[in-house]
Amino acid sequence: VFTTAQVAQAPEDPLFGLMRAYRQDSSDKKVDLGIGAYRDDNAKPWILPVVQKADAILHNDPNLDHEYLPISGLANFTAAAQKLILGADSPAIQENRATSLQTISGTGAVHLGALFLAKFHPRRPTVYLSNPTWANHNQIFTNVGLAIDKYPYFSAQTKGLDIDGMLSALHAAPAGSIIVLHACAHNPTGVDPTQDQWKQIASVIRERGHFPFFDCAYQGFASGDLARDAWAIRYFVQQGFETCVAQSFAKNFGLYGERAGAFHFVSAAGPDAATANRNIASQLAILQRSEISNPPAYGSRIASIVLNDPALYAQWEQDLKTMSGRIIEMRRGLQQRLEAKGTPGSWNHITSQIGMFSFTGLNEQQVQTLREKWHIYMTKNGRISMAGLNTHNIDYFAEALDQTVR
Ligand code: PMP
Repeated sequence: VFTTAQVAQAPEDPLFGLMRAYRQDSSDKKVDLGIGAYRDDNAKPWILPVVQKADAILHNDPNLDHEYLPISGLANFTAAAQKLILGADSPAIQENRATSLQTISGTGAVHLGALFLAKFHPRRPTVYLSNPTWANHNQIFTNVGLAIDKYPYFSAQTKGLDIDGMLSALHAAPAGSIIVLHACAHNPTGVDPTQDQWKQIASVIRERGHFPFFDCAYQGFASGDLARDAWAIRYFVQQGFETCVAQSFAKNFGLYGERAGAFHFVSAAGPDAATANRNIASQLAILQRSEISNPPAYGSRIASIVLNDPALYAQWEQDLKTMSGRIIEMRRGLQQRLEAKGTPGSWNHITSQIGMFSFTGLNEQQVQTLREKWHIYMTKNGRISMAGLNTHNIDYFAEALDQTVR
């Protein structure tokens, strides 16, 4: 029999534990490099100017109400989200073989895809995740009953991509496995394959009949260029792959708490693709119904207003450049400071890595010293959020890092 006394206490989520420790630290020097959200140069949350505009438009709309959205979400939003990620001229869109549903941000999109594969894939293959990956991937795929395994990704030696390890693991994985790929700005390492490496990855996936599953949480936020950050997904689609994509609008719109996202299923090119895709859409709608009934309205309305208006879209691209530009500047600034100090080790990876995070290579002991002695907070794998650095704390951080690794 089930008794509630049998439920053991779960361990605290490490990231939330870190945030709590930071809040409780009373030092005025403290630096939060754990945070997974953009901060401006004053370490404050940043509401994108274009989002403020869209918000004003939304609130002046006399027809605005609080009715339910359709099960698959706001149609103007999902259509625009699909074009944004696949490209307006995508063959998948032209051939009616892409279906899109609005989800509870990127997490909900990964979950919906995982649930769909667990339910409809006849063999329930193992899901291969990069080592390391966003910790939630492990739980999301495990929770729907899929087995997970890892493929090598990060080389501790080069602090870059272990492409040989990755390719040989993908080669060795049982044919037809599910391969989760970060579309850009890999979390937690900041290491992305080059376009040439993506082509090699695609070719092994093709050869082994694997199913590529893209997670895209940082489009436009990584390089500042929306097309460039979606290049890998568009390449796979052009190659005719069947694939699915989890798309988050948390980072690129700063809509973290509003939970705006989309899930896209792209059927393989072929004569029956449009019919197959319609069937998949109908099943996804049933899954969505039992999970959340209808997605939340506010974030998708904001994103939809921006994505469907050329002038606002152009302003959004500027806002993306503001965020990605500040982060790239912090990367340069940090590398320069460490090199100027002659800090032991090589620091090229700070600028060759991209997106919100950098895998510094600091070990657990060093991470602990930085926290206890310097009031600098980061995850124990040595990942720092570049958005936590700013012109006021970068000198302090560079000095702390220098002292700690000597
Ligand atoms: N995937 C990855 C790799 C991420 O880093 C994130 C954000 N931390 C997400 C998905 C989803 O985040 P959200 O649910 O807030 O969109």
